[in-house]
Amino acid sequence: MSRAYNFSPGPAMLPEPVLRQAQATLLEYADAGASILEISHRGPEFLAVARQAEADLRTLLAIPDDYAVLFTAGGATTVQALLPLNFAAPGQPCDYVISGHWGKTALKQAAPCVDARIAASSEDGGFRDLPPRAQWRLSPEAAYVHVTANETIHGVEWRAIPEAGEVPLVADFSSSIASEPLDVTRFGVIYAGAQKNLGPVGITVVIVRRDLLERAGQARAPILDYRAQLAAESMLNTPPSWNWYVLGLTVRWMLDEGGVAEFARRNARKAALLYAAIDGSGGFYRNEVAPAARSRMNVPFFLHDPALDALFLAEAKQAGLIGLKGHRVLGGMRASLYNAMPEAGVQALVEFMREFQVRHG
Ligand SMILES: *Cc1c(COP(=O)(O)O)cnc(C)c1O
Repeated sequence: MSRAYNFSPGPAMLPEPVLRQAQATLLEYADAGASILEISHRGPEFLAVARQAEADLRTLLAIPDDYAVLFTAGGATTVQALLPLNFAAPGQPCDYVISGHWGKTALKQAAPCVDARIAASSEDGGFRDLPPRAQWRLSPEAAYVHVTANETIHGVEWRAIPEAGEVPLVADFSSSIASEPLDVTRFGVIYAGAQKNLGPVGITVVIVRRDLLERAGQARAPILDYRAQLAAESMLNTPPSWNWYVLGLTVRWMLDEGGVAEFARRNARKAALLYAAIDGSGGFYRNEVAPAARSRMNVPFFLHDPALDALFLAEAKQAGLIGLKGHRVLGGMRASLYNAMPEAGVQALVEFMREFQVRHG
């Protein structure tokens, strides 16, 4: 068996040591006498796993004590639906800065129960750039301002998320969390589905400044209430325990590799290598995002002749490079370069792209 370099946007490549550890404990976890898939989430073995994962994530991201960490099911999209329920009063405005597909999704999920407003959008330009701070029209009475740190489909990323004043910033970090150092204290809420950069699909991390949990929000069932979830250590019902375990292994791997500062260096080198190959191809390949807004994590690119797309993907697969097909919204290709993607994988991709151009240029 040979594992390919997997450029999938999510579920995405996981570090091989993490998969091996998960495999080794699949049949029997420690001395539990059973797999972690088979034991109670309320037993001592799993509670230790869950608490260690939180402690390690707090270390990795330097999360201060006045922030709570929740581990939830339902993905980032469910968080988008729960934000207004938990943090905005009925009818209260919530501001959305739309820089791509996921910002639009966040707005759509919130719209049924609050006054969800578009504070700024770069949709007119096809989301090839970020809406500049000077154009944001913020509502002073808003419950929060929602931003998407990295747009996974359009490949645009805030290199520095602007200030929003007194209103708390709520940020979707699904596809860039832990890719570089992050000042958690600038945000009211940070959330991320794990399947991009934190581990397996099926679990989502929500980091909440504790005082925001005291906001009344809207009438909601306990299972949808972040205060209730926090009081129950994210175990109001059966949590996705296996996913939580593999997330913990992935976070530990990131710490062992040198933490977010080290991944920031690696990710900068990886992205620079790929963008240089695209920009230096004389138009055979192109990326359409404004250079200052280009994502380090997701690099959409197009071949000069879309008739070559299928061949590119087929030959890439033969070369051991998978997951490169672009999202249907944009077409073309997309290479996702999360923490688990080694530099050697990006070198192999760039090499393949040069050879493909020679063969078909
Ligand atoms: C993948 C993604 C989502 C959606 O995540 P789900 O877990 O599928 O709900 C939301 N926002 C961003 C930025 C993403 O990359």
